[in-house]
Amino acid sequence: MGAVLEVRGLAKSFGGIVALRDVALQAEDKEVLAVIGPNGSGKTTLLNVITGVYRPDAGGVLLEGHQLVGLSPAQICAKGIARTFQNIRLFRRLTVLDNVMIGQHHRFGAGPAGVLLASGASRKEEAKFEGEARALIAKVGLAGLEDAIAQSLPYAKQRLLEIARALAADPKVLLLDEPAAGMNSEEIVHLEALVKFLRDEGLTVVMIEHVMDLVRGVADRVVVLNYGAKIAEGSFEEIEANPKVIEAYLGKGAGPCSA
Ligand code: ADP
Ligand code: MG
Repeated sequence: MGAVLEVRGLAKSFGGIVALRDVALQAEDKEVLAVIGPNGSGKTTLLNVITGVYRPDAGGVLLEGHQLVGLSPAQICAKGIARTFQNIRLFRRLTVLDNVMIGQHHRFGAGPAGVLLASGASRKEEAKFEGEARALIAKVGLAGLEDAIAQSLPYAKQRLLEIARALAADPKVLLLDEPAAGMNSEEIVHLEALVKFLRDEGLTVVMIEHVMDLVRGVADRVVVLNYGAKIAEGSFEEIEANPKVIEAYLGKGAGPCSA
């Protein structure tokens, strides 16, 4: 089967810092691809280049075979790639419902403000979009919290809200940047079920994650970055047994004593 998302020869430097070196990966239909690696290995930069926040110095990003490099983040989102952020970025003083409806805005053609103001011609559409937003809120497990103010939610629920907002863009590919950060084990179990559910519904998910139980539970394949380069790729079991990966990442912090 062809890749839904393909990254080829991606390179990105910031001054003297090489954040990505010739990175290639593919994510297929109904696949969860996990991206792991030490802090500073280029994982978030990879998402930032895929989503058009940064233009790569070299290489390409293809969605269903179409080149995305050069498009704006809004254009890339409209083509079907939505994301969450390592540092949660919600409209903190707005409600859960409004945050999700803002995620729909490129589908309105009204701009983010138009979504909330729902003026004139868009009023009928708004009812439909509001229904969809409420369904997404329920899907991620936040039913009953539609009118809660985003910043009043506990951290884990804010992360779920970000996922609902990303889904509101109706993506083909969902990029998650450390979605389990700050979650307890029960919340991680919920997140795992949600990611599997989304995958089974047909979404391609690229998930940066440090919580190895979650990676083990949900990833169909794993890509490992170190110093901006891909050092391994395979099933979780293959990655876990790979000496290069153990040396660079998984082995670190395994014992109770510092080296
Ligand atoms: P990770 O998400 O794997 O922790 P990042 O992609 O955030 O890693 O960072 C990779 C490297 O690129 C780090 O050395 C980081 O400091 C650097 N970097 C990322 N974004 C920028 C930026 N906007 N300006 C300068 N350096 C950056
Ligand atoms: Mg990061």
